[in-house]
Amino acid sequence: MSKAEAQFDAIVVGAGPAGATAALAMAAKDRHVALIDAAKHPRPRVCAGWLGSCVVPLLGEIGVKLKDLDAVPINNVAFFNADFTKTATPKFPSTPGYLIDRAGFDEKLVRAAESAEVSFHDAMSIGQIRLGEEFVTAEPSRGVPLRGSVLILASGRKSQLLDQLRLGPGSIPSGWWAAHVEAEDVKTGPPKVSVVLGLDNFGGIGVVVSGRGRATISVQTGGERAETIHKITTLCKHALAHDLIDVDLSDVAARSEAISTPAAVALAMDTHVAKRTLIVGDAGGFVSATSGEGIYPGMWSAKIAADVAHEAIGAPSPQDVLMEFNTRWRTEMAEYLRPPNTETQYILPLIFSNQPMADRMGAAFFAGQNI
Ligand SMILES: Cc1cc2nc3c(=O)[nH]c(=O)nc-3n(C[C@H](O)[C@H](O)[C@H](O)COP(=O)(O)OP(=O)(O)OC[C@H]3O[C@@H](n4cnc5c(N)ncnc54)[C@H](O)[C@@H]3O)c2cc1C
Repeated sequence: MSKAEAQFDAIVVGAGPAGATAALAMAAKDRHVALIDAAKHPRPRVCAGWLGSCVVPLLGEIGVKLKDLDAVPINNVAFFNADFTKTATPKFPSTPGYLIDRAGFDEKLVRAAESAEVSFHDAMSIGQIRLGEEFVTAEPSRGVPLRGSVLILASGRKSQLLDQLRLGPGSIPSGWWAAHVEAEDVKTGPPKVSVVLGLDNFGGIGVVVSGRGRATISVQTGGERAETIHKITTLCKHALAHDLIDVDLSDVAARSEAISTPAAVALAMDTHVAKRTLIVGDAGGFVSATSGEGIYPGMWSAKIAADVAHEAIGAPSPQDVLMEFNTRWRTEMAEYLRPPNTETQYILPLIFSNQPMADRMGAAFFAGQNI
């Protein structure tokens, strides 16, 4: 090793929820970890801000308390059809999710990692990853290269680092687009999540969230870019007309950008392992196809990767152990990520006419269960 390189057990690239989770999970096993992010923190985030409650046991495993994340329970959920002529209210055995301030959530996870003695560096972009047989090197825009026994790549969607590793979802057509608008909202009362089902022929969804003085509207569609903007603009008008929010966001929506999403791309990727590098979170396409949820699936994939990485370091054949990430995440997560096993167009009428079907759709949306 050159003296001009810093040495770690694990280098984690990207300090979103997936990267912070990987760092926390490795630090909990007394591993020496560097967590690197290109952005200057704290930073704003584009997000509807709902967090599935399946995350709670995982938080416990990485030593983070839900109460410290300023997460407000969501107990008010409604489903609508695309033109808002039908509605249903799913019932849940317990709170299905939480409303978070996304920027604050990310920041709290990073601060928890720092408290766990993770070496955190913001405003540091990794431009190059060099894969070696014995170690992996991350070359940053400033400072010395970082050398690790393992690298966990959590750099989000559309990272150019994926192309370097030739594993990127960019090479796999996802066909999904998202758009998002938000504004301050005067509505008071507990958080409310309205899920609009069957937005397009591909089963696209819209999510209207109000609470904490903000309104957010997001859509995820399988159509084209322009169609996605049209869907979110129409949804903003419906949301105002049906009193879900108090602000007219349709003009902002008409001028918004459509973003490509990695929904369920993980299932189409051949591998998430490149020598000593494991790919997690949005970078690995760990986003639910049913709901567009990516925070919890990203954290979950990162926890599995961290467990595998910990076992690999010091093993006689580390790369054989690292390859186990592919089978472990698939065994645990495939069901959660995949689209519903039934064509949405066939089940939609049932969801709005049959309470048990509405409940099952609620479990599919918030807890990744099959319908
Ligand atoms: C409109 C919209 C709304 C959404 N709403 C929700 C929601 O309500 N609930 C939910 O569960 N999911 C939601 N999602 C999905 C969710 O936001 C993502 O799945 C989640 O952010 C993925 O986390 P991550 O840690 O993998 O990546 P990110 O949070 O994107 O973090 C990646 C990090 O990597 C850093 N990075 C990138 N390149 C480099 C580099 N070269 N060097 C160093 N650092 C780098 C970036 O700065 C960034 O901080 C939404 C997505 C969209 C598009």
